Amino acid sequence: MIPTLQNKVNICVIIIMDLYFDNAATTKISKRALEAYNETAMEFWANPSSVHTPGLNAKKKLEEERSRIASLMGITPTSLFFTSGATESIGSVISSLLFTTPGKIIISKIEHEAVASWLSILKQYGWKTAELKAKGGFVDPESLKAELTPDTKFVAIMAVNNVTGAIEPIKELVSVVREYEKTSSKRRIFFFSDSVQALGKIDYNPAALDIDGASFSGHKINGPRGIGMLYLKNPSAFRPLSAAGGQEKGKRGGTENLPAIASLRAALEEWMDGREEKNAAVSEMKKIIVSELKELGYDILSPEKSSPYIISFASKLPSEVFTRMLSDKGAYVSSGSACSNNAKGEGEKILLGMGVKPERARNAVRVSLSNSTTQEECEELIRIIKEC
Ligand code: PLP
Repeated sequence: MIPTLQNKVNICVIIIMDLYFDNAATTKISKRALEAYNETAMEFWANPSSVHTPGLNAKKKLEEERSRIASLMGITPTSLFFTSGATESIGSVISSLLFTTPGKIIISKIEHEAVASWLSILKQYGWKTAELKAKGGFVDPESLKAELTPDTKFVAIMAVNNVTGAIEPIKELVSVVREYEKTSSKRRIFFFSDSVQALGKIDYNPAALDIDGASFSGHKINGPRGIGMLYLKNPSAFRPLSAAGGQEKGKRGGTENLPAIASLRAALEEWMDGREEKNAAVSEMKKIIVSELKELGYDILSPEKSSPYIISFASKLPSEVFTRMLSDKGAYVSSGSACSNNAKGEGEKILLGMGVKPERARNAVRVSLSNSTTQEECEELIRIIKEC
Protein backbone atom coordinates (compact mmCIF):
# COMPACT_ATOMS: atom_id res chain seq x y z
CA MET A 1 0.00 0.00 0.00
CA ILE A 2 1.32 3.45 -0.92
CA PRO A 3 1.62 5.42 2.35
CA THR A 4 -0.63 8.45 2.01
CA LEU A 5 -0.69 11.25 4.55
CA GLN A 6 -3.97 9.83 5.89
CA ASN A 7 -2.35 6.43 6.46
CA LYS A 8 0.55 8.03 8.29
CA VAL A 9 -1.85 9.98 10.51
CA ASN A 10 -3.77 6.78 11.28
CA ILE A 11 -0.56 4.94 12.21
CA CYS A 12 0.30 7.81 14.53
CA VAL A 13 -3.12 7.67 16.20
CA ILE A 14 -2.85 3.92 16.81
CA ILE A 15 0.46 4.44 18.58
CA ILE A 16 -0.53 7.31 20.84
CA MET A 17 -4.15 6.50 21.65
CA ASP A 18 -5.51 3.38 23.24
CA LEU A 19 -9.25 3.74 22.92
CA TYR A 20 -10.66 1.42 25.57
CA PHE A 21 -14.44 1.24 25.31
CA ASP A 22 -15.08 -2.11 26.99
CA ASN A 23 -15.59 -0.93 30.54
CA ALA A 24 -18.73 -3.01 31.08
CA ALA A 25 -16.49 -6.08 30.73
CA THR A 26 -13.86 -4.72 33.08
CA THR A 27 -12.34 -1.40 34.08
CA LYS A 28 -8.70 -0.60 34.58
CA ILE A 29 -7.78 -0.60 38.27
CA SER A 30 -7.22 2.95 39.54
CA LYS A 31 -3.94 4.10 41.06
CA ARG A 32 -5.61 4.74 44.42
CA ALA A 33 -7.18 1.28 44.42
CA LEU A 34 -3.85 -0.33 43.60
CA GLU A 35 -2.08 1.65 46.34
CA ALA A 36 -4.73 0.62 48.87
CA TYR A 37 -4.19 -3.01 47.81
CA ASN A 38 -0.42 -2.80 48.26
CA GLU A 39 -0.56 -0.94 51.57
CA THR A 40 -3.09 -3.37 53.06
CA ALA A 41 -1.22 -6.42 51.80
CA MET A 42 1.97 -5.16 53.47
CA GLU A 43 0.47 -3.89 56.72
CA PHE A 44 -2.49 -6.21 57.35
CA TRP A 45 -1.15 -9.46 56.00
CA ALA A 46 -2.36 -11.61 58.89
CA ASN A 47 -5.43 -13.83 58.72
CA PRO A 48 -8.44 -11.92 60.16
CA SER A 49 -9.58 -15.14 61.85
CA SER A 50 -6.35 -15.49 63.87
CA VAL A 51 -6.62 -14.47 67.49
CA HIS A 52 -3.10 -13.04 67.89
CA THR A 53 -2.48 -9.31 67.64
CA PRO A 54 -1.76 -9.07 63.88
CA GLY A 55 -4.86 -11.20 63.23
CA LEU A 56 -7.01 -9.01 65.45
CA ASN A 57 -5.67 -5.92 63.67
CA ALA A 58 -6.58 -7.45 60.33
CA LYS A 59 -10.07 -8.25 61.64
CA LYS A 60 -10.48 -4.65 62.82
CA LYS A 61 -9.37 -3.37 59.43
CA LEU A 62 -11.81 -5.76 57.69
CA GLU A 63 -14.75 -4.47 59.71
CA GLU A 64 -13.68 -0.86 59.15
CA GLU A 65 -13.61 -1.48 55.41
CA ARG A 66 -17.02 -3.15 55.53
CA SER A 67 -18.50 -0.15 57.37
CA ARG A 68 -16.98 2.34 54.94
CA ILE A 69 -18.24 0.43 51.89
CA ALA A 70 -21.70 -0.06 53.40
CA SER A 71 -21.92 3.63 54.17
CA LEU A 72 -20.96 4.52 50.57
CA MET A 73 -23.72 2.18 49.37
CA GLY A 74 -26.31 3.41 51.87
CA ILE A 75 -26.77 0.00 53.49
CA THR A 76 -25.93 -1.48 56.91
CA PRO A 77 -22.57 -3.25 57.40
CA THR A 78 -24.40 -6.32 58.73
CA SER A 79 -26.12 -6.78 55.36
CA LEU A 80 -22.85 -6.80 53.39
CA PHE A 81 -20.73 -9.90 52.68
CA PHE A 82 -17.53 -10.18 50.67
CA THR A 83 -17.14 -12.83 47.97
CA SER A 84 -14.75 -13.44 45.08
CA GLY A 85 -17.04 -11.70 42.57
CA ALA A 86 -20.62 -11.26 41.47
CA THR A 87 -20.74 -14.74 39.93
CA GLU A 88 -20.02 -16.26 43.33
CA SER A 89 -22.50 -13.93 45.10
CA ILE A 90 -25.23 -15.03 42.68
CA GLY A 91 -24.25 -18.71 42.80
CA SER A 92 -24.21 -18.87 46.58
CA VAL A 93 -27.75 -17.49 46.83
CA ILE A 94 -29.29 -19.49 43.99
CA SER A 95 -27.52 -22.74 44.90
CA SER A 96 -28.90 -22.43 48.45
CA LEU A 97 -32.33 -23.15 46.92
CA LEU A 98 -31.17 -26.73 46.48
CA PHE A 99 -31.53 -27.13 50.27
CA THR A 100 -35.23 -26.36 50.12
CA THR A 101 -38.23 -28.20 48.68
CA PRO A 102 -38.48 -27.42 44.97
CA GLY A 103 -40.79 -24.60 43.94
CA LYS A 104 -40.82 -22.11 41.11
CA ILE A 105 -38.07 -19.67 40.12
CA ILE A 106 -38.75 -16.74 37.79
CA ILE A 107 -35.96 -14.88 36.03
CA SER A 108 -35.84 -12.62 32.96
CA LYS A 109 -34.64 -13.59 29.49
CA ILE A 110 -31.96 -10.91 29.68
CA GLU A 111 -30.10 -12.15 32.78
CA HIS A 112 -26.34 -12.59 32.74
CA GLU A 113 -25.17 -16.22 32.48
CA ALA A 114 -24.16 -16.02 36.14
CA VAL A 115 -27.91 -16.18 36.86
CA ALA A 116 -29.32 -17.86 33.73
CA SER A 117 -27.00 -20.88 33.89
CA TRP A 118 -28.68 -21.98 37.14
CA LEU A 119 -32.04 -22.67 35.51
CA SER A 120 -31.03 -25.99 33.96
CA ILE A 121 -29.50 -27.14 37.27
CA LEU A 122 -32.59 -26.24 39.27
CA LYS A 123 -34.79 -27.99 36.68
CA GLN A 124 -32.81 -31.19 37.26
CA TYR A 125 -33.73 -30.91 40.95
CA GLY A 126 -37.43 -30.57 40.24
CA TRP A 127 -37.78 -26.80 40.12
CA LYS A 128 -40.31 -25.13 37.83
CA THR A 129 -38.80 -22.26 35.90
CA ALA A 130 -40.07 -19.26 33.96
CA GLU A 131 -38.16 -16.70 31.89
CA LEU A 132 -39.80 -13.34 31.36
CA LYS A 133 -39.43 -11.55 28.03
CA ALA A 134 -38.03 -8.04 28.12
CA LYS A 135 -39.71 -6.33 25.16
CA GLY A 136 -37.72 -3.28 24.16
CA GLY A 137 -35.24 -4.13 26.92
CA PHE A 138 -37.55 -3.98 29.93
CA VAL A 139 -39.27 -6.61 32.03
CA ASP A 140 -42.94 -5.74 32.26
CA PRO A 141 -44.25 -5.92 35.86
CA GLU A 142 -47.55 -7.26 34.48
CA SER A 143 -45.74 -10.24 32.94
CA LEU A 144 -44.15 -10.96 36.33
CA LYS A 145 -47.56 -10.75 37.98
CA ALA A 146 -48.92 -13.28 35.49
CA GLU A 147 -46.17 -15.80 36.32
CA LEU A 148 -46.45 -15.63 40.13
CA THR A 149 -47.94 -18.81 41.59
CA PRO A 150 -48.32 -20.03 45.18
CA ASP A 151 -45.19 -22.17 44.79
CA THR A 152 -43.00 -19.27 43.58
CA LYS A 153 -40.02 -18.97 45.89
CA PHE A 154 -37.47 -16.93 43.99
CA VAL A 155 -37.43 -14.06 41.46
CA ALA A 156 -34.20 -12.75 39.89
CA ILE A 157 -34.25 -9.66 37.72
CA MET A 158 -31.14 -7.61 37.10
CA ALA A 159 -30.96 -3.87 37.87
CA VAL A 160 -29.04 -2.78 34.76
CA ASN A 161 -28.53 -4.96 31.72
CA ASN A 162 -24.91 -5.51 30.76
CA VAL A 163 -25.55 -5.60 27.00
CA THR A 164 -27.92 -2.69 26.42
CA GLY A 165 -27.65 -0.78 29.70
CA ALA A 166 -31.46 -0.95 30.14
CA ILE A 167 -32.44 0.15 33.64
CA GLU A 168 -35.07 -2.30 34.80
CA PRO A 169 -38.14 -1.10 36.75
CA ILE A 170 -37.01 -2.85 39.94
CA LYS A 171 -39.21 -0.79 42.27
CA GLU A 172 -42.36 -1.76 40.34
CA LEU A 173 -41.25 -5.39 40.01
CA VAL A 174 -40.57 -5.72 43.75
CA SER A 175 -43.90 -4.14 44.53
CA VAL A 176 -45.74 -6.67 42.31
CA VAL A 177 -44.08 -9.46 44.32
CA ARG A 178 -44.83 -7.88 47.70
CA GLU A 179 -48.48 -7.35 46.72
CA TYR A 180 -48.75 -10.97 45.65
CA GLU A 181 -47.28 -12.11 48.98
CA LYS A 182 -49.92 -10.16 50.86
CA THR A 183 -52.84 -11.52 48.93
CA SER A 184 -52.00 -14.95 47.53
CA SER A 185 -48.79 -16.35 48.98
CA LYS A 186 -48.14 -17.29 52.55
CA ARG A 187 -44.40 -16.98 52.35
CA ARG A 188 -41.93 -14.25 51.46
CA ILE A 189 -40.65 -14.57 47.90
CA PHE A 190 -36.91 -13.89 47.66
CA PHE A 191 -36.32 -11.03 45.20
CA PHE A 192 -32.76 -11.04 43.92
CA SER A 193 -31.25 -8.41 41.67
CA ASP A 194 -27.89 -8.75 39.94
CA SER A 195 -26.71 -5.18 40.43
CA VAL A 196 -23.21 -5.33 38.95
CA GLN A 197 -23.76 -2.65 36.31
CA ALA A 198 -25.78 -0.40 38.65
CA LEU A 199 -23.27 0.30 41.41
CA GLY A 200 -22.12 3.93 41.20
CA LYS A 201 -23.52 4.29 37.69
CA ILE A 202 -27.18 5.01 38.44
CA ASP A 203 -29.03 6.01 41.62
CA TYR A 204 -29.34 2.67 43.30
CA ASN A 205 -29.90 1.35 46.81
CA PRO A 206 -31.01 -2.28 47.30
CA ALA A 207 -32.23 -1.59 50.84
CA ALA A 208 -34.48 1.28 49.76
CA LEU A 209 -35.88 -0.93 46.98
CA ASP A 210 -36.84 -3.71 49.43
CA ILE A 211 -34.74 -6.25 47.53
CA ASP A 212 -33.76 -9.41 49.44
CA GLY A 213 -30.40 -10.04 47.78
CA ALA A 214 -28.08 -8.27 45.33
CA SER A 215 -24.69 -8.93 43.73
CA PHE A 216 -21.86 -6.47 43.06
CA SER A 217 -18.40 -6.67 41.54
CA GLY A 218 -15.20 -4.73 42.21
CA HIS A 219 -13.73 -4.74 38.72
CA LYS A 220 -16.54 -2.73 37.11
CA ILE A 221 -15.71 0.41 39.09
CA ASN A 222 -11.92 0.64 38.79
CA GLY A 223 -11.41 -1.85 41.61
CA PRO A 224 -9.51 -5.14 41.45
CA ARG A 225 -10.78 -8.44 40.10
CA GLY A 226 -11.57 -11.34 42.37
CA ILE A 227 -13.59 -9.30 44.82
CA GLY A 228 -17.34 -9.05 44.91
CA MET A 229 -20.13 -8.33 47.33
CA LEU A 230 -23.39 -9.87 48.35
CA TYR A 231 -26.14 -7.78 49.90
CA LEU A 232 -28.61 -9.69 52.06
CA LYS A 233 -31.56 -7.89 53.58
CA ASN A 234 -32.11 -10.67 56.09
CA PRO A 235 -28.86 -12.65 56.47
CA SER A 236 -30.24 -14.96 59.14
CA ALA A 237 -32.65 -16.43 56.58
CA PHE A 238 -29.80 -17.38 54.22
CA ARG A 239 -28.03 -20.72 54.52
CA PRO A 240 -25.30 -21.29 51.93
CA LEU A 241 -24.55 -24.78 50.63
CA SER A 242 -21.27 -24.66 52.53
CA ALA A 243 -20.15 -22.34 55.29
CA ALA A 244 -16.66 -23.89 55.18
CA GLY A 245 -14.44 -22.04 57.69
CA GLY A 246 -17.35 -19.96 58.97
CA GLN A 247 -15.95 -16.63 57.79
CA GLU A 248 -18.33 -13.79 56.92
CA LYS A 249 -20.63 -14.86 59.76
CA GLY A 250 -21.02 -18.28 58.17
CA LYS A 251 -22.36 -16.86 54.91
CA ARG A 252 -19.14 -17.26 52.89
CA GLY A 253 -16.31 -19.49 53.94
CA GLY A 254 -12.70 -18.85 53.00
CA THR A 255 -10.00 -16.47 54.23
CA GLU A 256 -11.11 -12.92 53.49
CA ASN A 257 -9.21 -11.16 50.69
CA LEU A 258 -8.46 -8.11 52.82
CA PRO A 259 -6.14 -6.28 50.35
CA ALA A 260 -8.77 -6.60 47.61
CA ILE A 261 -11.52 -5.45 50.01
CA ALA A 262 -9.51 -2.32 50.92
CA SER A 263 -8.79 -1.77 47.25
CA LEU A 264 -12.49 -2.06 46.38
CA ARG A 265 -13.28 0.47 49.12
CA ALA A 266 -10.72 2.90 47.70
CA ALA A 267 -12.13 2.45 44.17
CA LEU A 268 -15.69 2.94 45.35
CA GLU A 269 -14.76 6.02 47.39
CA GLU A 270 -13.05 7.51 44.36
CA TRP A 271 -15.97 6.57 42.09
CA MET A 272 -18.57 8.07 44.44
CA ASP A 273 -16.64 11.31 44.91
CA GLY A 274 -18.45 13.77 42.61
CA ARG A 275 -20.48 10.89 41.22
CA GLU A 276 -23.37 13.01 39.95
CA GLU A 277 -21.13 15.33 37.95
CA LYS A 278 -19.10 12.40 36.60
CA ASN A 279 -22.24 10.50 35.57
CA ALA A 280 -23.66 13.64 33.94
CA ALA A 281 -20.44 14.04 31.93
CA VAL A 282 -20.57 10.39 30.84
CA SER A 283 -24.21 10.88 29.89
CA GLU A 284 -23.24 13.83 27.66
CA MET A 285 -20.58 11.72 25.96
CA LYS A 286 -23.11 8.95 25.39
CA LYS A 287 -25.47 11.47 23.77
CA ILE A 288 -22.73 12.59 21.38
CA ILE A 289 -21.79 9.03 20.41
CA VAL A 290 -25.46 8.02 19.96
CA SER A 291 -26.22 11.03 17.81
CA GLU A 292 -23.14 10.45 15.61
CA LEU A 293 -24.01 6.76 15.24
CA LYS A 294 -27.57 7.63 14.25
CA GLU A 295 -26.26 10.10 11.70
CA LEU A 296 -24.11 7.34 10.23
CA GLY A 297 -27.26 5.21 9.85
CA TYR A 298 -26.68 2.76 12.68
CA ASP A 299 -29.60 1.39 14.73
CA ILE A 300 -29.26 2.06 18.43
CA LEU A 301 -30.29 -1.01 20.44
CA SER A 302 -29.99 0.56 23.90
CA PRO A 303 -33.36 1.87 25.03
CA GLU A 304 -33.86 5.48 26.08
CA LYS A 305 -33.91 4.60 29.80
CA SER A 306 -30.47 3.08 30.02
CA SER A 307 -27.19 3.45 31.88
CA PRO A 308 -25.05 6.38 30.66
CA TYR A 309 -22.15 3.91 30.55
CA ILE A 310 -23.47 1.50 27.90
CA ILE A 311 -24.35 1.94 24.22
CA SER A 312 -25.42 -0.98 22.07
CA PHE A 313 -25.88 -0.58 18.34
CA ALA A 314 -26.31 -2.79 15.29
CA SER A 315 -23.33 -2.48 12.98
CA LYS A 316 -23.57 -3.29 9.30
CA LEU A 317 -21.27 -6.30 9.55
CA PRO A 318 -21.22 -9.35 11.83
CA SER A 319 -20.12 -8.00 15.19
CA GLU A 320 -16.92 -10.10 15.35
CA VAL A 321 -15.78 -8.64 12.02
CA PHE A 322 -16.62 -5.08 12.95
CA THR A 323 -15.04 -5.23 16.42
CA ARG A 324 -11.89 -6.76 14.89
CA MET A 325 -11.69 -3.90 12.36
CA LEU A 326 -12.00 -1.36 15.16
CA SER A 327 -9.46 -3.22 17.26
CA ASP A 328 -6.96 -3.15 14.39
CA LYS A 329 -7.26 0.63 14.50
CA GLY A 330 -6.79 0.78 18.29
CA ALA A 331 -10.46 1.11 19.34
CA TYR A 332 -11.54 -1.60 21.74
CA VAL A 333 -15.25 -2.31 21.98
CA SER A 334 -17.06 -5.59 22.39
CA SER A 335 -19.39 -7.70 20.36
CA GLY A 336 -22.64 -8.25 22.20
CA SER A 337 -22.01 -8.89 25.88
CA ALA A 338 -18.53 -10.34 25.67
CA CYS A 339 -18.02 -10.45 29.41
CA SER A 340 -15.93 -13.29 28.18
CA ASN A 341 -15.41 -15.17 24.97
CA ASN A 342 -16.30 -18.27 26.96
CA ALA A 343 -19.98 -17.37 26.99
CA LYS A 344 -20.18 -16.86 23.23
CA GLY A 345 -23.58 -15.75 22.00
CA GLU A 346 -24.64 -14.48 25.41
CA GLY A 347 -25.13 -10.93 24.15
CA GLU A 348 -27.03 -12.21 21.15
CA LYS A 349 -29.29 -14.28 23.41
CA ILE A 350 -30.04 -11.24 25.53
CA LEU A 351 -30.86 -9.11 22.49
CA LEU A 352 -33.14 -11.84 21.13
CA GLY A 353 -34.78 -11.94 24.57
CA MET A 354 -35.70 -8.29 24.20
CA GLY A 355 -37.17 -8.80 20.76
CA VAL A 356 -34.29 -7.69 18.50
CA LYS A 357 -34.35 -9.43 15.09
CA PRO A 358 -31.68 -12.18 14.77
CA GLU A 359 -29.70 -10.46 11.96
CA ARG A 360 -29.46 -7.24 13.98
CA ALA A 361 -28.56 -9.14 17.16
CA ARG A 362 -25.72 -10.85 15.26
CA ASN A 363 -24.30 -7.45 14.32
CA ALA A 364 -24.58 -5.94 17.79
CA VAL A 365 -21.67 -3.98 19.14
CA ARG A 366 -21.32 -2.65 22.67
CA VAL A 367 -19.45 0.54 23.47
CA SER A 368 -19.04 0.97 27.21
CA LEU A 369 -17.61 4.01 28.93
CA SER A 370 -15.88 4.70 32.22
CA ASN A 371 -15.98 7.87 34.29
CA SER A 372 -12.44 8.56 33.09
CA THR A 373 -13.39 8.36 29.38
CA THR A 374 -12.65 11.69 27.68
CA GLN A 375 -14.48 13.58 24.96
CA GLU A 376 -11.40 13.34 22.72
CA GLU A 377 -11.49 9.57 23.04
CA CYS A 378 -15.17 9.58 22.02
CA GLU A 379 -14.42 11.79 19.01
CA GLU A 380 -11.55 9.54 18.00
CA LEU A 381 -13.77 6.47 18.32
CA ILE A 382 -16.37 8.07 16.02
CA ARG A 383 -13.66 8.97 13.52
CA ILE A 384 -12.47 5.35 13.47
CA ILE A 385 -16.03 4.02 13.13
CA LYS A 386 -16.55 6.38 10.17
CA GLU A 387 -13.34 5.11 8.60
CA CYS A 388 -14.47 1.48 9.03
N1 PLP B 1 -23.58 -9.85 36.20
C1 PLP B 1 -23.39 -8.88 35.29
C2 PLP B 1 -24.56 -8.06 34.86
C3 PLP B 1 -22.12 -8.63 34.76
O1 PLP B 1 -21.96 -7.67 33.86
C4 PLP B 1 -21.05 -9.44 35.20
C5 PLP B 1 -19.70 -9.29 34.64
O2 PLP B 1 -19.47 -9.05 33.53
C6 PLP B 1 -21.28 -10.43 36.15
C7 PLP B 1 -22.56 -10.61 36.62
C8 PLP B 1 -20.16 -11.30 36.68
O3 PLP B 1 -19.34 -10.55 37.54
P1 PLP B 1 -17.94 -11.11 38.10
O4 PLP B 1 -16.96 -10.95 37.00
O5 PLP B 1 -17.61 -10.25 39.28
O6 PLP B 1 -18.16 -12.51 38.50
